[in-house]
Amino acid sequence: GKVNGGNRVYEYTEQLSKQYNELLLMASDIRKAFQYNEFTLSYQPKVDVGTDAIVGVEALIRWEHGKKGKIPPSVFIPIAEEIGMIDQIGEWVLRKACQQFVEWKNAGTSPVMIAVNISAVELQQPEFLPRVKNIIEETGMDPDYLEIEITENSVMQNTEACIQKMNELRKMGVSLSIDDFGTGYSSMGYLQKFPINYLKIDQSFIKELFLETGSAEIIKAMIQLGHTFGLKVVAEGVEGEQILSFIKDEKCDYYQGYLYSKPLEAELIEAKLLSIS
Ligand code: C2E
Ligand code: CA
Ligand code: CA
Ligand code: CA
Repeated sequence: GKVNGGNRVYEYTEQLSKQYNELLLMASDIRKAFQYNEFTLSYQPKVDVGTDAIVGVEALIRWEHGKKGKIPPSVFIPIAEEIGMIDQIGEWVLRKACQQFVEWKNAGTSPVMIAVNISAVELQQPEFLPRVKNIIEETGMDPDYLEIEITENSVMQNTEACIQKMNELRKMGVSLSIDDFGTGYSSMGYLQKFPINYLKIDQSFIKELFLETGSAEIIKAMIQLGHTFGLKVVAEGVEGEQILSFIKDEKCDYYQGYLYSKPLEAELIEAKLLSIS
C-alpha cells in the first residue's frame, strides 16, 4: 500500500535527479569543451553520381573530450538541445565552416558548396537569421556556397514561420536541404511549399536497398518525387558499388558515403580540393 507507493515515488525522484545531474554534468563539459577547444569540424565530400566530381562538403562536428575521449554528435547534440546549449554550438559550427571556406579559397582551391547542419531548436530561435547574416558578413563567406541542412521534422512545427525563415535565407543566397528525408512526418504536400534546393534520402533506405523488399521502389519514388519538385537529390550513406550503380540508373544527382570518403579533417579536404583545382 502506502509504503510501496512511497518507495516508487522515492525511486522515481531519485532517478530523475540522477538524470538531472547527468545533464548538469554535460552542460559543464560542453562549456569546458569551448574553453579547451575540444570541438573540431570534419568534412564529408558530396559527390556527383555521374562524374564522381566533388560538388560540396558537409561539415560534421567532432568532440574530443579531455578525459572521456571521442563523444559522437548523435549523443551530445540532443542533450545540448535539451539543456539550451545548441545555439552556442550551432553558432560555433557555422562560423568555423564559413572561416574554413574562406581559408580554402585563399589557399587557391576552386570553391565547392559547404553544408552545415542546423538543429530544429536553432531554427526556431528569433536570433537565428540575424546570426547567419552576421557570420556571413564577419567571415567574408560567399553565401552562394553556403548550404543549410534541416531535418524534415524541424520544419513541421511552426511551419509557416519556418517557411518564412527559409525564404529569407534563400534571399540571402543560401541553399537549403531537407536532411534525413523519409524518416520524418512531413506530408508530400509540404515539399511543394518549402523553398528548398536539395533532398537528402536518409541512409536507412540506402542501407536496406538489397536487404528489404520494397526499399528499391521507395528510393526510386523519392528520387522521382525530388525531381518532380525541381530538387537535386542526394543519397546518404552509400557504402558499396552496387548501390552506387543503382542510384546512377535511377538518375540520383549526388551521393555521400564511405564508398567515396569518410568525413575528413580540413587539411585533407584542402589537399583533395587543390588536387582538382
Ligand atoms: P547527418 O546529418 O545525417 O550526417 C550523416 C552521418 O552519417 C554522419 O555521422 C556521417 O559521418 C555518417 N556517414 C556518412 N557516410 C556514411 C556511410 O557511408 N556509412 C555510415 N554508416 N555512416 C556514414 P556523424 O558525423 O556521427 O553525425 C551524426 C548526426 O549528428 C548527423 O547526421 C547530424 O544529425 C548530427 N550532427 C553532426 N554534426 C552536427 C552539427 O554540426 N550540428 C548539428 N546540429 N548536428 C550535427
Ligand atoms: Ca546532414
Ligand atoms: Ca542525414
Ligand atoms: Ca541523421
